[in-house]
Amino acid sequence: MDAIKIKDKQFTLSITEETIQAAVKRVGEAINKDLADKDPIFICVLNGAFMFAGDLMKTVNIPCEITFIKLSSYVGTYSTGKVHEVMGLNESVVGRNVVVVEDIVDTGITMEKIIASLKAKGAADIKVATFLQKPDALKRDIAVDYVAIKIPNEFIVGYGLDYDGYGRNLKDIYTVVD
Ligand code: 5GP
Ligand code: MG
Repeated sequence: MDAIKIKDKQFTLSITEETIQAAVKRVGEAINKDLADKDPIFICVLNGAFMFAGDLMKTVNIPCEITFIKLSSYVGTYSTGKVHEVMGLNESVVGRNVVVVEDIVDTGITMEKIIASLKAKGAADIKVATFLQKPDALKRDIAVDYVAIKIPNEFIVGYGLDYDGYGRNLKDIYTVVD
């Protein structure tokens, strides 16, 4: 299905499952190489990154832990710029090599806050692995270590990412038609 409707909006297929799976595998393989002896703790940022984290961790085969935090910043198709921590971190990250697993880096405001919070909690090294990045939308000077796919500055849904709560279960990525 190339065209779908979610609530009041039309979306069109833009990135296929096949392309997504290949890109996610590449990120996992790079992490296996880079962090083999680092005993990393992966922090999956809910809700959006759940599917990326699930697939990524099937390729990651080095000793590691994975945990979850939950944030919310979007209302509808616009970032509010205010990031709320809905569920915090239970594990200590003191002296740890942390990999933040995100669905998308858009303005970078969310990631900047996550990085600052992990630094304050004593993480030794912080890497960022994001499924998508919108390079043209970046407003903060943050280093993104692993990007599966770069996309233009348009609103997308699927593969964990939602429009008002819907569309997270789609295997492919769809772009809004306006
Ligand atoms: P940032 O703080 O970098 O502007 O935004 C990060 C968050 O906004 C992401 O984690 C994601 O939840 C949400 N976001 C940014 N762009 C999109 C998009 O195109 N579609 C959806 N569904 N969420 C987005
Ligand atoms: Mg997110």
